Amino acid sequence: MVDFNRKFDVLVIGGGNAALCAAISARRAGASVLVLEGAPKFYRGGNTRHTRNMRCAHDAATEILTGPYTEEEFWQDLLLVTGGQTDEELARFMIHESKDILNWVVEQGVRWQPSLGGTLSLGRTNSFFLGGGRAMLNALYLTAEKLGVEIVYDAEVTGLQIEDGMFLGATLKQPIDGASEIRASALVAAAGGFEANIEWLKQYWGDAADNFLIRGTPYNRGSILKMLLDNGVQDIGDPTQCHAVAIDARAPKFDGGIITRHDSVVFGIVVNKHAERFYDEGEDIWPKRYAIWGRLVAAQPDQIAYIIFDSSVVTSFMPTLFPPIGAPTVAELAVKLELDPAALEKTLAEFNAAVQPGTFDHTILDDCRTEGITPAKTHWARKIDAPPYLAYPVRPGITFTYLGTRVNKQSRMVMKDGKPSANMFAAGEIMAGNVLGKGYAAGIGMTIGSVFGRVAGREAAKNAKN
Ligand SMILES: Cc1cc2nc3c(=O)[nH]c(=O)nc-3n(C[C@H](O)[C@H](O)[C@H](O)COP(=O)(O)OP(=O)(O)OC[C@H]3O[C@@H](n4cnc5c(N)ncnc54)[C@H](O)[C@@H]3O)c2cc1C
Repeated sequence: MVDFNRKFDVLVIGGGNAALCAAISARRAGASVLVLEGAPKFYRGGNTRHTRNMRCAHDAATEILTGPYTEEEFWQDLLLVTGGQTDEELARFMIHESKDILNWVVEQGVRWQPSLGGTLSLGRTNSFFLGGGRAMLNALYLTAEKLGVEIVYDAEVTGLQIEDGMFLGATLKQPIDGASEIRASALVAAAGGFEANIEWLKQYWGDAADNFLIRGTPYNRGSILKMLLDNGVQDIGDPTQCHAVAIDARAPKFDGGIITRHDSVVFGIVVNKHAERFYDEGEDIWPKRYAIWGRLVAAQPDQIAYIIFDSSVVTSFMPTLFPPIGAPTVAELAVKLELDPAALEKTLAEFNAAVQPGTFDHTILDDCRTEGITPAKTHWARKIDAPPYLAYPVRPGITFTYLGTRVNKQSRMVMKDGKPSANMFAAGEIMAGNVLGKGYAAGIGMTIGSVFGRVAGREAAKNAKN
């Protein structure tokens, strides 16, 4: 039983990767640590449960990675996907630290496995967790427990006492063992973004947000983020920016996870409810582009779109939970999708006529492209003419939001007046906007949580001891 009357050195709010990395790191630095996870034990671990891999720099091939991925190359990738909207000092710091994280997480019990293949093209850059995110989390929880970190579930924090940038205590939604007030010398906020809070999303997206599907935990409602910002912590990031992918429109509202994501865009075309194409499906290698499709679909009427392809490519990408909708002709497919058959036939005929000869290779920016249509498909364009014709309906699948708390290199929150907080640290999604102003490259979410989680825990422990 946890003794809530004591004052802990470090209170960690959250139960995902960032929280556990912070808790382990703080405990290893000699602090007493309490983790408050808002979710029940079965659902512990927020969005981290759904993850598969992490992007880390490394100077040489590892047991499971095919070659070097230098700090500079990582930085260039980040620069590209964010369009420069990143804090260079923090981002370079994170990338440098990521080299060490590859081994550090193994020391905490996590195991790697070789990359998955297909369209992911991650064999050189991203290490995959053996058994996925849940196995990774189980290892971190086990290590934390063995080290003596105290962990409480069903422990949603609904109040923070903060005075002049100094954390004093936290209030639980429901008392646990009669206690509802928690005291600690330092705080690590690792409670995710506000992606599961549809009302908050609606402030920026309007009613369109009603059509968004949330890929991960329903527990990341941004309550801790809001309390921090209301108590003088400086915000970072555009509230409309988020990681959002195209997921199957038949997916559940929350927690559908990875098996609802469609990676077939590069093998076909994508049309909106008017059966019109609206973006270059072959703009860049998929790991650098998959995360723009949620926003692209969000901008379409009724936030719905359809990936259209044919029988020649069905084995080229990872299958998803939902089977494609199929029909022997384009017109019949359109009827099943409730699209105008003539409009879909016209779009497909124009696309097929625009396809130029080339040598198909989805692992590189190949020369299969269209000419004379707008938008162009600049790579991997091949005729769609092998029945049955197939389609996936897709909606914006919100993974996580980027609005967050500003932090410095110690993961310490920065207050609105520019001064560092006395004793408040943040890690993971809740501060992802420092690194991700927009865009995404696969595996960075876990890098942010692991790197800044480890730093936050260590610094919070140091802070508490002083
Ligand atoms: C389907 C899916 C697949 C993904 N795949 C990858 C991948 O392969 N690689 C990658 O890098 N990233 C991936 N991501 C993104 C990744 O999940 C996140 O970037 C990362 O897990 C964030 O870790 P975190 O600890 O900050 O947040 P989370 O893991 O979401 O943890 C937040 C925690 O805070 C708790 N919490 C929230 N509010 C409160 C409160 N008031 N009181 C107490 N607790 C609270 C929640 O219950 C939760 O446990 C994926 C996300 C999804 C949804």
